Amino acid sequence: MQVLKKIAEIVSEVELFIQYGVQASEQQIGLELLQRYRNDALALQLMRAFYTSLPETHEEAIGRIAMIRQKEGIFLLGVTTARHNYLYLATDQQALLLGEYGQEVLDPELLVFFGYTDSDDFLGKCPVLASCEEYEPASAPGSRLCPVCLVATGEYHLLGCPVEVCPWCDGQLSRCGCRFEQLGVEELTDEDKLEELERLLEEKGRVPYIREHRPSYLSEPNE
Ligand SMILES: [Zn+2]
Ligand SMILES: [Zn+2]
Repeated sequence: MQVLKKIAEIVSEVELFIQYGVQASEQQIGLELLQRYRNDALALQLMRAFYTSLPETHEEAIGRIAMIRQKEGIFLLGVTTARHNYLYLATDQQALLLGEYGQEVLDPELLVFFGYTDSDDFLGKCPVLASCEEYEPASAPGSRLCPVCLVATGEYHLLGCPVEVCPWCDGQLSRCGCRFEQLGVEELTDEDKLEELERLLEEKGRVPYIREHRPSYLSEPNE
C-alpha cells in the first residue's frame, strides 16, 4: 500500500512540473505520456528526474521513452523531446541523467555492465533512438520483465523479490520457511545472514524468472 501511495505522489508531482515547467504547446504531450505510465514506478522516476533536474529543460515535454537495454533491474533508457535526445539510467527507485544522447562520454564500466565493449560499440548498436523499441511497463501483459523486481526472463530476481520461487519447496521464497530452516535462525536481520542465504541459494540453484511466474492478476488481465 505504501508503494502505491508513493506512486500516486510522484504522479501528482510530475503533473505539477509539467503544468508549470513545460511550454503550453507541449503540455498535452507530457501529460499523455504521464497517463500512459502512471502505474509504472520506473518511468515515473525517469519523468520526475527529467522534469526536476534537467540542467536546461528548454521547457520541453517528454514525447517518448525508448528501451535501450536492461540488466538486473537497471535500465538504460532514451528520452526524446521535440528537439532533444537524452540518455538515462533508471531503476524503480531513482533515475540519473547520463547526458545528451550520442554526446555523453560513458563510463566504460557501465558500458561493460550492459554488454557493450566500448562507446563506439554502444552507438553502433543503437544509433537513432527512434529505432529502439518503446519502453514498455513491466506490468504490461506482454512484458518480458518480472513485474516486481524488473529482471528479464531467464535472469535471477533481485534478492527479496516476492515473485522468486523457492528451490527447496517450490513455494514463494519470501513467504515459505525454508530460508530460516537453511540458515538455522528464527529471523533474518543482518547482512551476513543475507549473504549466506544468497550463497546457499546459488549452491542449491536459484530459480530464474519465467513468464509463468507472473502473478495471475497480471498475466490474465481480461479474466
Ligand atoms: Zn522479481
Ligand atoms: Zn521454500
